[in-house]
Amino acid sequence: MSASSTWMIENPWRPAPAEPWRSFSLGLKKKDASRRIDFSLLLEENTVSLELQERKPMRKSVFFIVIFIFVSIGVFDAVSLSQQGDVYAGKRRQMVSRQLASRDISDRRVLDVMGKVPRHLFVAPDYRGQAYEDYPLPIDEGQTISQPYIVALMTQCLDLRGGEKVLEIGTGSGYQAAVLAGMGCRVFSVEIREVLAAQAARTLRELGLDGVEIKQADGYFGWPEDAPFDAIIVTCAANHVPPPLLEQLKEGGRLAIPLGSTLYFQTLTLITKVEGKPRVKQISGVRFVPMIGEAEKSKG
Ligand code: SAH
Repeated sequence: MSASSTWMIENPWRPAPAEPWRSFSLGLKKKDASRRIDFSLLLEENTVSLELQERKPMRKSVFFIVIFIFVSIGVFDAVSLSQQGDVYAGKRRQMVSRQLASRDISDRRVLDVMGKVPRHLFVAPDYRGQAYEDYPLPIDEGQTISQPYIVALMTQCLDLRGGEKVLEIGTGSGYQAAVLAGMGCRVFSVEIREVLAAQAARTLRELGLDGVEIKQADGYFGWPEDAPFDAIIVTCAANHVPPPLLEQLKEGGRLAIPLGSTLYFQTLTLITKVEGKPRVKQISGVRFVPMIGEAEKSKG
């Protein structure tokens, strides 16, 4: 603002409202386009005042610098977000090649799905950087999300082709359920801890993953309303196979469960139901959190 002048004109006719009438601004002619003059007309009792104020408009260069800064911030954010996505995609690819394919995971569909499911979104933000490492991670309530290799191994054991109905006991973070859904299965997952059941349901919903139903209950009893299942996966350790799970398994169906001491180590065991009887195969040594509830009371 460089200049200001006020003219006072007597108003002989009638009193006017004591409030500014109108305020407007205009730019001057072309040769003077860099100057702007604001007019204010003020009607008071017997006076009309006209105030002229010259404003120096923001110079074009300043305007463009400001726009440039805003655009750059937007572009920077977009690039850094997509780079974050790329970082996780890269880590996921490495996980698949170094931890799964290089070991004994040969089911192409398991490798493809684990190369796509965003495991980092199933752990707390503090652990995202470690989501694709070769070990389990803590989730809420003192529980764990299994090591990627164990998720792949258990999924591969079930020999899924897509379209199967699968029961999971121990939803935890929801990651294993997401992998099963990615394999084209209808997933029924039971979680005994309410907080985890609700959190996993939220994560899966936010990812837009359908095909997974989660129920808060003691998974020892399975999901009788929707039985029988083509496959059952138990992701907590028990010292025996809960009989209701065997009952809810279809003839020829497969059940993977960590069996053994719930305090120390277990054996990942694959049970196939043949002529109504379990055929048992031991797969590998594993370590899972214990199955609580009925499993602790009952010895099977
Ligand atoms: N599959 C999970 C990890 C499971 S951790 C994932 O992908 O993240 C084992 C889970 O089993 C824990 O969340 C624990 O609360 C749950 N659990 C323990 N006993 C259970 C029971 N009797 N019924 C259902 N879930 C149980």
